[in-house]
Amino acid sequence: MIEERLPEWLKKPAGPLKNLHELKKTLRARGLNTVCESARCPNIGECFTRPTATFMILGERCTRECGFCGVKKGSGGGHVLPPDRAEPENVALTAMEMGLKHVVITSVTRDDLPDGGAEHFAKTIKAIRANSSSTFIEVLIPDFRGDEAALDIVLQAAPDILNHNLETVPSLYSVVRPGADFVRSIELLRRASDFGATVKTGIMVGFGETGEEVRSLMRVVKDAGCEILTIGQYLRPTRDSLKVKEYVHPDIFREYEDYGKEIGLKEVYSGPLIRSSYNADKVYGRLSQN
Ligand code: SF4
Repeated sequence: MIEERLPEWLKKPAGPLKNLHELKKTLRARGLNTVCESARCPNIGECFTRPTATFMILGERCTRECGFCGVKKGSGGGHVLPPDRAEPENVALTAMEMGLKHVVITSVTRDDLPDGGAEHFAKTIKAIRANSSSTFIEVLIPDFRGDEAALDIVLQAAPDILNHNLETVPSLYSVVRPGADFVRSIELLRRASDFGATVKTGIMVGFGETGEEVRSLMRVVKDAGCEILTIGQYLRPTRDSLKVKEYVHPDIFREYEDYGKEIGLKEVYSGPLIRSSYNADKVYGRLSQN
């Protein structure tokens, strides 16, 4: 994360990094990636003290160029490699050995693959189920360029939560999320909800959006059948990433959480340090009590 004068509410001690280093060794040994490092996540120390982890599959280079993202890009000479056939089993073995209760599987976007990597997601879900049937599986998927057949491949593998982040409000897509399409992403969430999946999405604020744009997005998300929404503060991961336009005050996050409940969203997890996978197990725990 680029060192900028952060307001008090964003200052968080890194937390114990011992578990993180051990996890990194385990991941490296199996050629696996996690998104936490490249995203410069402020919760990285805390998360690894708990039986949950986020694995990034389909390589460490992305075919897109989102302005907020610290993941390596496939353009500019870096090549995206073919998916590692052993990856699904390696993720499953690692999850089993670590005794993970909640696993989040995310990926870079692979517009170079015919199915965008959907089959690889399905294989990873099935491999985890085969190795540790009680592990809860959340997938955070790309938009598969709106390919419904690809989405159905993932849905038929029956993840416990289908997550796809909208990231920001529609008026900022061209700057924050070029290559993506707000309506296309909403249709993905709607199709997953119609399919019967528990659907989750997330955004970051601080890119210059207005409060009314966020509330309008929340209404559209509710209408699309989403049950869980996360809202967090954008933090600049690299010097090449977009500048932060605003550090949104915690009171505003609370207002978004209250508004979400008011319009009937089952679970709104909103706060400066909230991230899509942060406390993912707790959030789902709360949802299943609702
Ligand atoms: S598609 Fe995902 S991994 Fe790729 S640049 Fe955008 S946010 Fe990062």
